[in-house]
Amino acid sequence: MSQPSQAEREAELGAIFEHCNDLRQAPVPTDAELPAGFVGTLGHFPVYFPEEIAHAAGLLPVNLLGGGNKLEMKAADAHMGSFICSICRSTTEMGLNGSLSTLSGFVTHPICDAAKHLSGIWGRNFPEQLSQILYLPQNPNSPGAARFVAAEYQRLRGEFEKKVGHAVEDAALSRSIRIYNRNRQLLRELMAIRRDEPWKLGCTEGYLLLRARTRMPCEEHNALLEAALPLIRARDRVAQDKPRVVFVGGFCEQPPLEMLEALDDTCYVVDDDILIGLRWMTEDVDETGDPVRALAEAFLDRSAASPVQHDERKTKEGYLMDMLHGARADAAILTAAKFCEPGLDEQVAWSKHLDEVGVQYLVLEFEEKMTSFEQMAMQLETFAESLLFAIA
Ligand code: SF4
Repeated sequence: MSQPSQAEREAELGAIFEHCNDLRQAPVPTDAELPAGFVGTLGHFPVYFPEEIAHAAGLLPVNLLGGGNKLEMKAADAHMGSFICSICRSTTEMGLNGSLSTLSGFVTHPICDAAKHLSGIWGRNFPEQLSQILYLPQNPNSPGAARFVAAEYQRLRGEFEKKVGHAVEDAALSRSIRIYNRNRQLLRELMAIRRDEPWKLGCTEGYLLLRARTRMPCEEHNALLEAALPLIRARDRVAQDKPRVVFVGGFCEQPPLEMLEALDDTCYVVDDDILIGLRWMTEDVDETGDPVRALAEAFLDRSAASPVQHDERKTKEGYLMDMLHGARADAAILTAAKFCEPGLDEQVAWSKHLDEVGVQYLVLEFEEKMTSFEQMAMQLETFAESLLFAIA
């Protein structure tokens, strides 16, 4: 049998990206549309949610990532101040306009005041849905932290059991961990291509591939990645003269797709924290022992840093420098979502440190509802040119 041509492989890959982009804009599936094995959907707000527990309960984990730049805001303004970040406002709007009415439940985390209070808004306005805050330890370095996280995960497991009407057995949890471990392996491969051969996979394409998991079971996402990765590796593309950059600040509210495209036009984004909530476990979770304990230990010892995790082993400056060195990047793009206090706080520490160590950086602010990108594209172009000039 003859091998597919380069054009045929590219067409196949293009169809995968198009499917992922459709899913990005697709509504949350209704119960009738759910794949076999799932009885409901569980919305979770960024960042550190253990999807395995919802998956094992038969609740499709749906990472809620706001309303993007097409959503018309009508009702949310009556529920929160104008100084709240866009993702909180648009998530509330989607709840109030009925877009999230098919969710069985919603879980948020106390990553910031705005996110913490979403649970109260949810509980009052959508009493038919499970509404929970997953508390994570303020001090992950305390000796009791693993016990605390495991207890929180058990509490959540109990809430899901009540919702679905049956016990979530350890065997089901271990099976979900195995499925997600496979996903973690595939995502590590994807990020390795972004790092080692960035001309084969742009930041926007990688984003679309990853974000597809917010609308499908992890096992289906594994199949999607298994189909896409060999096609990406086989791409016949030549490296262009672009600087290698690390992008940070996309850990919660998502940068608009047009912003990522502007980045791809000028730079190779060789590492980033975009959608880190879908890939925060940096290594596989132990598949052998107590599954809840294994998930808790993974959060404490094998999780990606972000501005909303306060672990003394991961300093703000330290994890950025690790990203820069690990990806052999020339520079950093330091962003923060508008009104995001944790993100803006991190941005100050990052820029101060990069000044001290002499690493070039560009500071940008974004909002998911942005619609104009000309000025940002111009800033990126100027930055990229100055980097290329300095490197040459
Ligand atoms: S974008 Fe920032 S302020 Fe808004 S919910 Fe996320 S962490 Fe909180």
